[in-house]
Amino acid sequence: MNNSLDSSADERIGITDGLKDGLKDGLNRPIHDLRVSVTDRCNFRCVYCMPKEKFGKGYQFLSKSELLSFEEIVRIVRAFSELGVRKIRLTGGEPLVRSELEKLVEQIANIQKIDDISLTTNAVLLTEKRARSLRDAGLGRVNISLDALDDETFMAVNDVGVPVQKVLDGISTAAESGFESVKVNMVVKRGLNEHSILPMADYFHGTGQILRFIEFMDVGNTNSWKNSEVVTAAEIADLINSERPIEKVPPNYRGEVANRWRYLDGGGEIGIIASVSEPFCGDCSRARLSAVGKLYTCLFAADGHDLMGLIRRGASDAELSEKLTALWRSRRDRYSETRTVESVLRPKVEMSHIGG
Ligand code: SAM
Ligand code: SF4
Ligand code: SF4
Repeated sequence: MNNSLDSSADERIGITDGLKDGLKDGLNRPIHDLRVSVTDRCNFRCVYCMPKEKFGKGYQFLSKSELLSFEEIVRIVRAFSELGVRKIRLTGGEPLVRSELEKLVEQIANIQKIDDISLTTNAVLLTEKRARSLRDAGLGRVNISLDALDDETFMAVNDVGVPVQKVLDGISTAAESGFESVKVNMVVKRGLNEHSILPMADYFHGTGQILRFIEFMDVGNTNSWKNSEVVTAAEIADLINSERPIEKVPPNYRGEVANRWRYLDGGGEIGIIASVSEPFCGDCSRARLSAVGKLYTCLFAADGHDLMGLIRRGASDAELSEKLTALWRSRRDRYSETRTVESVLRPKVEMSHIGG
């Protein structure tokens, strides 16, 4: 890690021996993964993410000048890549509402140490042309969110009347566009869409597209999260197993967020992200950059660290690197492992600001 820095450069940017063994946070976790939110806007109003009561007509979204420019994002990504980041996920809000996203992908793909670029999207804007240009720019993997297979449930989730077929078309488009992988994310919320678990599992069984179930999380303060509305990973696995037997598969790598399961009949894999019932903070090597350039070291943080301000005040690359190093070293986040009734109510950043 950090091989490209010679010792004089190390001294210049104030990096000590700790970094040569890999930058570690206060709980000895490296940094591998950066999630970049490119916008706070979205064409959906998913009830568990951007409920209309809060994100309605009067809601003040960010203006273009308040967003990090592509050049600023690339600068931050490059600095992170020198500290150990290898994977970049573009997210939002809905990342495809940001115009010319391909240009950002291309610039990130040109950063030598970044070896994986992925996108999380609701896929409504994923036309064939857009998918091809994103792939040609260097996007490797796409995760598409879909929470039900019937219009009534899906429209109750997205709350803007988008039918299921629109997203299924996006999934087909992605599958035919030559990405390394296309995965499907389904958030499960009790009383909203748990009846869609089996239909979704059936639909993606045998397709080669991995369906990942995500426990409903208490991100932000607007989605009225209740523990009783979490359908746990164990419940999801039991339900699927009762229909089609599955067995656990070892993780692909340390820190993988989804527990992997395989159908015994050869129909492929599913994943379950058990962030609430089986937290995985111990291996959390992710940081998140919001659309306004704040760095969050945890999905459940109250506030972020202002990198846009630092950059716009003229910080040098060395100063930026020093700041990122100091922030990561002081990180001790483990929110999901310590969640309490009180912590759920504490102010937390909204999901649409920092992405999933
Ligand atoms: N708009 C894009 C999309 O929906 O794919 C990207 C941003 S969205 C915030 C990223 C992911 O977070 C989606 O898969 C979404 O379902 C998930 N998500 C949003 N709110 C959530 C919550 N409260 N609990 C669990 N997952 C959530
Ligand atoms: Fe938009 Fe994604 Fe949030 Fe749904 S989950 S409201 S699509 S940002
Ligand atoms: Fe990482 Fe925070 Fe989630 Fe724990 S709660 S896994 S530290 S983002």
